[in-house]
Amino acid sequence: MDMQEKTRLVLELRESTDESVRNTNAKVPTGRKWNAQTEVDQAVSRLKHQEVMGRVQAGRAGLGWGAMPRFWSKANRKQRKEMVVAEVTRMEEDRYKIKAVSQGRQGSWTTWEGIINRNISWTDVWKIPQARLSFLIRSTYDTLPCPRNLHQWFGSEESCALCNAPNASLQHILSGCKIALSQGRYRWCHDQVLRKLAEDSKQPPSAEDSTIFVSEGGVRRSTRSRETARLFSPNQEWNMRVDLDRQLRFPTEITTTSLRPDIVVWSTKARSVHLIELTVPLEEGIEAAFERKKAKYSELAVECREAGWKTTSYPVEVGCRGFLGLSTIRLLREAGVTRGKLRRATKDLAEEAEKGSFWLWLRRKDRCCGKNT
Ligand SMILES: [Zn+2]
Repeated sequence: MDMQEKTRLVLELRESTDESVRNTNAKVPTGRKWNAQTEVDQAVSRLKHQEVMGRVQAGRAGLGWGAMPRFWSKANRKQRKEMVVAEVTRMEEDRYKIKAVSQGRQGSWTTWEGIINRNISWTDVWKIPQARLSFLIRSTYDTLPCPRNLHQWFGSEESCALCNAPNASLQHILSGCKIALSQGRYRWCHDQVLRKLAEDSKQPPSAEDSTIFVSEGGVRRSTRSRETARLFSPNQEWNMRVDLDRQLRFPTEITTTSLRPDIVVWSTKARSVHLIELTVPLEEGIEAAFERKKAKYSELAVECREAGWKTTSYPVEVGCRGFLGLSTIRLLREAGVTRGKLRRATKDLAEEAEKGSFWLWLRRKDRCCGKNT
């Protein structure tokens, strides 16, 4: 019996209206490696799961452009049978695909360092458009049809449509393509996140900060006091410059330099300056990006200190799939973003990064598209 026949037989037995047949719980003889019952159980749970998550399309069809998924809950018995058989077949194909694609790379997300988990609630799942959700999941597991994966799945010769690099990986498309770089695509994505980050970090001390709780023990200040906002000490005038159009001039009252950190925040009165440098790397490279930026700006920090300024530098990372570096959370906390707002802020930053990457992905074959399209 082949795999599909066995699957059908299991379903026959399960759905049999004849009590005696159902109760015998007859085992279908299968080979040692492939267990029809387990496979059918898995297939059914996958079908139910897909109904909630939206099917993650595989292969050349691209993002969510395949046949519309039929919904398990709405299918009749005959359709369900077809769905299970198709699903078991697909599961076999997936297994083959996983074997074909290097294990190390598919599971590389398990080795990401220095990132926080993204909490995607069920409400978010419903709100995110299916194509973007599909992109998020498939980019995380590296199963998008990028030239390298197409090459490994189908053995065809594929190359980057922009720069002709052979078997270009997802990493190439999201951060390594010379043409995309020269067209300003990466800068554009980076600046979308930067704009959000600047907005978030300069939130004025909110009313919540001085909330007074009247408890039985008397009057006490909220635990979210301004003392936690180490970035902007209160009662000082703070200035902020953001390098959005590559126009930032470093404040000459501090020092003269050709370096342009992404954000400079300074207070003349407090003689204090913060240098914030944002990277939107692939999650795999978050730790490395942090170290690289730290090294790049440490010299500038030394110069500022020599000029008599209290200097802090904050290299922060927002992964291009929307996973935030711990450094980003640290910065937001020190900027005095309260816990309630932190959730919103991290979610916005994650979405901004992920949307940018999705845009890069969708335009990966679009040669003439610059940053403004
Ligand atoms: Zn390229």
